Amino acid sequence: MINVEEIRRDFPMLSNTMQGKPLIYLDNAATTFKPKCVIDAVTSYYTTFNANCHRGDYDLSHDVDVAYEAVRGKVGKFINCLDKEVVFTSGASASLNIVANGVGQWLKQGDEILLNEAEHASNILPWFMVAQATGAIIKYIPLNKEGRLTVENLKNTITEKTKVVSLAHVTNVLAYTIDIKEICKVAHEYGALVVVDGAQSIAHMKVDVKDLDCDFYCFSAHKMLGPTGVGVLYGKYDLLEKMNPLMMGGGMNSRFYSCGSYSLHHAPSKFEAGTPNIEGVIGFGAAIDYLSKIGMENIHEYEHNLKQYAISKLKEIPNIVIYNETNESGVITFNNKNVFAQDLATHFNSYGIAVRAGQHCAKILMNFLGTVATVRASISFYNTKEEIDKFIEVCKKGDEYLDAFFKWS
Ligand code: PMP
Repeated sequence: MINVEEIRRDFPMLSNTMQGKPLIYLDNAATTFKPKCVIDAVTSYYTTFNANCHRGDYDLSHDVDVAYEAVRGKVGKFINCLDKEVVFTSGASASLNIVANGVGQWLKQGDEILLNEAEHASNILPWFMVAQATGAIIKYIPLNKEGRLTVENLKNTITEKTKVVSLAHVTNVLAYTIDIKEICKVAHEYGALVVVDGAQSIAHMKVDVKDLDCDFYCFSAHKMLGPTGVGVLYGKYDLLEKMNPLMMGGGMNSRFYSCGSYSLHHAPSKFEAGTPNIEGVIGFGAAIDYLSKIGMENIHEYEHNLKQYAISKLKEIPNIVIYNETNESGVITFNNKNVFAQDLATHFNSYGIAVRAGQHCAKILMNFLGTVATVRASISFYNTKEEIDKFIEVCKKGDEYLDAFFKWS
């Protein structure tokens, strides 16, 4: 059970105001607020054991190594994989680029990469680059009428030439949860690798990469209460070992000679060139502890129930179009028929409510939705029913914006 009042006390950001009103933050899909334990963990690195990692031969540096590697273990436990299958990156985008670069080197002309129209730029553009470099072909698995990606549609699209299927576990606009386990079964029968963009799933549901049997799983810490600039690439170890890194540099090589020969460390180290975001990783560890204490099942249930409550109220408001009424998550994507999405977001802002408007980095999806932009309200387990009531109240006043506009013009 979620005790939201108690939880809210852990998040300093929640006591802020915006436009002189209590801040109501409904842009959690963009990034989440951080609990005090995460902020304290970052601060403690700078105040008590600030040194580089994997480099020093003194106690302080050893303490950093231990703390940094302990977080790798926490991530492994959190998603159920081996510690050595966890690569720290700068975020989901970096993780997806590392995979595309690595796997891309195994592709040739005519090989197929399957995506779909609901994907985020970070899971489309790296594959465009691979296609350009190799002659591989991008194919889009059709979405069903609702905008969901179904296993049936994958079966109708996949062929013997398919080498990669790269999909979001939960997409960032419609936020449907995709049956990755079944997708993996089908893809693996064809010998294709499955890459999962977990940026929007990891903070909201239990993820077990071994149970899913995906080949790669990518996510960012900042969307799961952790610091910005940290992410994870999970990869099956044999694949990580075979794959070339995207970046070369210090800390990831065992030796190199003037003639140009070199050897690299084993995974995950070979993917972590240069000084990593040490304080970010340490803070990320505190975020994982915090989420684990609350329980991912509790979080998922709370957020989904709050979203269902919001949907039931939104449906009573004339002129509101909802695009994802039946999704399993805490994300509501909608429009007011009379007000442009970004204007509506500005209207919410004047009441102290933060929502996101635009194309949400999923530019291809807008054709499918038949609109140029949408408003997205994304719920976290620290949001309350009272905040949703306020949000609904402001939604009801959506046409006020229009009235004001006509008065000004
Ligand atoms: N994939 C999805 C589905 C996302 O929502 C995002 C962030 N909006 C990303 C990838 C990229 O995450 P980051 O910006 O943290 O690299």
